[in-house]
Amino acid sequence: MLEISGIERHFASEPAVRGVSLTVWPGEVTCLLGPSGCGKSTTLRMIAGIERIDAGEIRIAGQVVADARTDLPPERRPVGMVFQDLALFPHMTVAANVAFGLPRGKDSAAVVTGLLDRVGLGHCAQKYPHQLSGGQQQRVALIRALARKPRVMLLDEPFSSLDQRLRVEMRELALDLLREEATAVLLVTHDPDEAMMMADRIAIMREGRILQEGAPLDLYHRPVDLAVAGFVSDLNIFSGRVLKGHLRTAIGDVPAGSFSEGASICVAFRPEHLALRRNARAPAHVIRVQNLGRENLVEVKIPGHLPYLRCCGAGHSDLKPGEHVEITFDTATAMQFHQ
Ligand code: ATP
Repeated sequence: MLEISGIERHFASEPAVRGVSLTVWPGEVTCLLGPSGCGKSTTLRMIAGIERIDAGEIRIAGQVVADARTDLPPERRPVGMVFQDLALFPHMTVAANVAFGLPRGKDSAAVVTGLLDRVGLGHCAQKYPHQLSGGQQQRVALIRALARKPRVMLLDEPFSSLDQRLRVEMRELALDLLREEATAVLLVTHDPDEAMMMADRIAIMREGRILQEGAPLDLYHRPVDLAVAGFVSDLNIFSGRVLKGHLRTAIGDVPAGSFSEGASICVAFRPEHLALRRNARAPAHVIRVQNLGRENLVEVKIPGHLPYLRCCGAGHSDLKPGEHVEITFDTATAMQFHQ
């Protein structure tokens, strides 16, 4: 288990990570999700021991690896790492790369062969990294990190340089391998889809702090504020004051939840929660239809309201720019926040 409590890091008195606390259980994947510069990689580097902590405590499997008095070097922490920059050793064969850090011996050769076979690279053992494709190199980096059976695996955007198909394959392979070993995984990403797909829990970070942590569906349905809601997907936002328990919006009245009369609030709908119906007499009209394969994204202009609304669903493929549409929604999908 990985337990982080109240860790902090400053660079030239600028706070990069401010009091981050997290627990990751064995066999569980937690995603740190947030925009560029919010402190995700610094958090991972502090856990790995590459960056010191200014305050707080990090424990792995019950052992303190960093606090005010302790700062174990990276090689003494039971942690594996796969970063975007794979850092395979170019002058070593694939087998030697995977064996790096393992105690020498008969067993180590068997472990390496077993891992290479497990990821379909048995035939590449004697090749050098530059002779492998990007996806193959990625697999080598992953099993190299796994070979020492770390308690904790840190993944920093490891799949971002791969094409879409390979990325999906690698995510599945990585999850299978890590769950088999009951490794506690902390994955850094700025891709909400990747977080929703891979994580058991997601921690949303901004400006060095965790804004909310929870199961993916919790964050999707019950975000604590507009910033968290906006991390998980695009939003259509309307704002104003509560009148008779509702907010009057350009698409109709929306219940104001528990907000009191006169409160300044905003309501947000995810694109998949707005439905469109052709209606020649409706004031709104289609600006653009983007086919995304299984679903379509439609941008709709409502007179007097900006920006354009973004609606997505499986059934909008026959809509054309210029066509007038009515927008409907289930009030239960509206998310209400203080302004
Ligand atoms: P990205 O997604 O772009 O990798 P991130 O969320 O991982 O971003 P960090 O790399 O952790 O963010 O950086 C957090 C903040 O700390 C940034 O403002 C960054 O400029 C700063 N920072 C990180 N490392 C250093 C360093 N070695 N020296 C000075 N400032 C640093």
